[in-house]
Amino acid sequence: MGLTDTTFTTWAGDERCRPARIVRARTVDDVRDAVRAAARDGLTVKAVGSGHSFTPAAMTDGVLVDIAALDRVLDVDREAGLVRVEAGITIHALADALAGHGLAFENLGDIDRQTIAGATATGTHGTGGALRNISSQIVAVDLVDGHGDLVRLDATTDPDGLRAARVSVGALGIVVAVTLRCVPAYVLRGVDTTAPLDEVLDAVDERVAAHRHFELYAFPHARRALTRTNDVVDEPATPPGRVARFLRQGLLETYALRGLSAAGRAVPPAIPTLNRTVVRLAGTTVRTDRSDRIFASPRHVRFMEMEYALPRAATVPAVREILATIDRHGYAVNFPIEVRFVAGDDALLSPAHGRDTGYVAVHAYHGMEWRPYFRAVEAIADAHGGRPHWGKRHFQTAGSLAGRYPEWDRFQAVRSRLDPEGRFANAYTTQTLGPVRDTARVGIAGAAGSA
Ligand SMILES: Cc1cc2nc3c(=O)[nH]c(=O)nc-3n(C[C@H](O)[C@H](O)[C@H](O)COP(=O)(O)OP(=O)(O)OC[C@H]3O[C@@H](n4cnc5c(N)ncnc54)[C@H](O)[C@@H]3O)c2cc1C
Repeated sequence: MGLTDTTFTTWAGDERCRPARIVRARTVDDVRDAVRAAARDGLTVKAVGSGHSFTPAAMTDGVLVDIAALDRVLDVDREAGLVRVEAGITIHALADALAGHGLAFENLGDIDRQTIAGATATGTHGTGGALRNISSQIVAVDLVDGHGDLVRLDATTDPDGLRAARVSVGALGIVVAVTLRCVPAYVLRGVDTTAPLDEVLDAVDERVAAHRHFELYAFPHARRALTRTNDVVDEPATPPGRVARFLRQGLLETYALRGLSAAGRAVPPAIPTLNRTVVRLAGTTVRTDRSDRIFASPRHVRFMEMEYALPRAATVPAVREILATIDRHGYAVNFPIEVRFVAGDDALLSPAHGRDTGYVAVHAYHGMEWRPYFRAVEAIADAHGGRPHWGKRHFQTAGSLAGRYPEWDRFQAVRSRLDPEGRFANAYTTQTLGPVRDTARVGIAGAAGSA
């Protein structure tokens, strides 16, 4: 996995490219030079983050720009909670730096290895019915556009540009810095436990409302769910010692889950029994720690994932339909269905755009056939007006997606303005966003600049 001198491979390992050249940018001028040189040579350009997308979002046969060295915290305004950082910083490093200033992310997903630019480009999110996805914290974006120019997009200079760049799918330019609105640091108590699945699904709204963060994992064949709640406490963090951490994450996740997943791959008929075993092993755990350390945990078990953003009210019906489909078709599914909740936001291509959302994610263990199962899940999501996570597997095209985003044309207008020649296109953007369109034909007021 990762970037070598000649190739780039995703975390899941099944998407790989061999770019015409790889530029390891150390400065903003390096990024601008890379874009201008690509234009001279008639090549496309892609920035890459940590390669944690399952989709080929960061693949290119043109110029791949690695901005891992652009990882500094540039400015911190503790009082206002505003923090400006270079775009290649990882969420892990940034969360650490924020803690040093008494600040934190409002919410995070379940890993922290992504870069801030990569995570927000695909609409990465955590869970929390009143909280929006990570990109909603962005109040300004500095980006190198298709002309090789450095532009600043914020609510004053370019409100449409900002709403487009928060979730850009990498199609607008190379983000070199972002300004985030952060919150005062907080400690979370996280409780994982299990309960009968129907009991959890029947009372989802109450559970979402009762906790700052609530999510559930529905285990196919087991009729039980694992629930995870995280709530703010006014107590000091009590991080687990190394032995406890190893027992919890090392022993359970690395050995038990990997072993059970591998056993399921080898003997699919054993999966229902194995799933029931996993739920039994899970038990109840309680942790109290710094917020980012509660959100994120290491992932040692490789998998493939699809995730759909559904209107909140459609979430539980969709989960029940997926479980019924698994039973009906006899799919060998040894990963739980993960269900999370976020508030709606206004990023033009956010999967949670304009509506409170339930995210439903399905997984397949590395090396197991995932397509028939994922296609069946996608059909269910389609029927509920679902929008795919831009970084996770799906089979959609621009034709099937455009109607699901009320401000699709507005995004395309910003794209035409910032990248008129399609310099930042790749096969994935062509499939999911279509070619760059002529702004005049798109016909959006203010398309040439909202300043
Ligand atoms: C184990 C695992 C757990 C995950 N957990 C979650 C989760 O809890 N919640 C969730 O929502 N998602 C989750 N994801 C998905 C992941 O957060 C997204 O796919 C995210 O985009 C990956 O970030 P990255 O830095 O690896 O970016 P990459 O995958 O490298 O790139 C993603 C996109 O961003 C673009 N990009 C990267 N850098 C720039 C830049 N500087 N300027 C412009 N465009 C850029 C790329 O071209 C590409 O289009 C998970 C993925 C994995 C593998």
